[in-house]
Amino acid sequence: MHSYSLIAPAKINLYLEIIGDRPDNYHELAMVLQSISLADKIDIRSIGIESIVVRCNHPLVPADEANIAYRAASLMSKQFPEALVRYGGVEITIHKHIPVAAGLAGGSTNAAAVLVGLDLMWELGLTHGELEELGAQLGSDVPFCIGGGTALATGRGEVLSPLPNLDHIYVVLAKYKNLSISTPWAYKTYRQEFGDTYVTDTEGQENSRQRVHSGPIVSAIAHHNHAEIGKLLHNDLEKVALPEYPQLLKLREAFASENVLGAMMSGSGPTMFALTESQAQAEEVEAAVKAKMADPDLEFWIAQFNSNGISIAH
Ligand code: ATP
Repeated sequence: MHSYSLIAPAKINLYLEIIGDRPDNYHELAMVLQSISLADKIDIRSIGIESIVVRCNHPLVPADEANIAYRAASLMSKQFPEALVRYGGVEITIHKHIPVAAGLAGGSTNAAAVLVGLDLMWELGLTHGELEELGAQLGSDVPFCIGGGTALATGRGEVLSPLPNLDHIYVVLAKYKNLSISTPWAYKTYRQEFGDTYVTDTEGQENSRQRVHSGPIVSAIAHHNHAEIGKLLHNDLEKVALPEYPQLLKLREAFASENVLGAMMSGSGPTMFALTESQAQAEEVEAAVKAKMADPDLEFWIAQFNSNGISIAH
């Protein structure tokens, strides 16, 4: 086939712990990542000429090599130059539904879709592991976005251990339209404020990773204990984002006072989310928080936990 349409789901963090610094200047992390049904649609098609073209309907998403989806296509054409000659270049059309710079891995999932799509379109037959390795060269969240579902992520976020799927959990997301948080700012500020608590030695970092591996949230997921999962939500980056943006703290409190399993900020923010047991509860929570906050700048989405990452659109 000369074209594919792919569904690229967003992710939320159920857990994000910053363990320490790494020699490559990234942070050593322990996270639980969860795909959700809020997704972009990515169309890719072969074009006769050997170039990469990106189109996107969102004003904040670049259409040149600054777009991570472009960089994914560029990486694939460098790795597989004979496929580029055989099939020609690629046009990538991004239909954006995931809010941008929101802590939902919107860019990473687009890049993951391009890797999966080009593997299919160029008939490369890459393994899941090979795709994840290519993904890790583009960004720490890209490997997770390929397979999605529920996973424990360590290292920079690219070392993945699958966890049992969590079906039937719903999520209400809210984001202030005009508020974005830069991921580098969040991590830099965290390092400035909490760097003295970092675990620096290799053995200590391994112990911290193991503590999360065998820790309470992983156990709650294994037992499908939704109430416990809600209580154990944790994100270290809230410690820098909430004091800086008091409206986020208010939003979190508004969610937490409703009939929810738990509420938290996703990734480096500023998207705040709450988990519920049903679609009806999610709708009630959305209506209540909307009324309480009464802010036209606040946007809401309702989604469900997803058991997969990139899939072909039908
Ligand atoms: P993460 O959770 O992985 O930190 P995020 O959801 O916070 O990501 P993105 O939506 O990926 O953030 O956007 C971060 C920046 O990347 C934006 O400022 C945007 O201009 C740029 N960007 C590049 N390519 C894309 C893309 N395909 N989709 C969205 N943003 C992109």
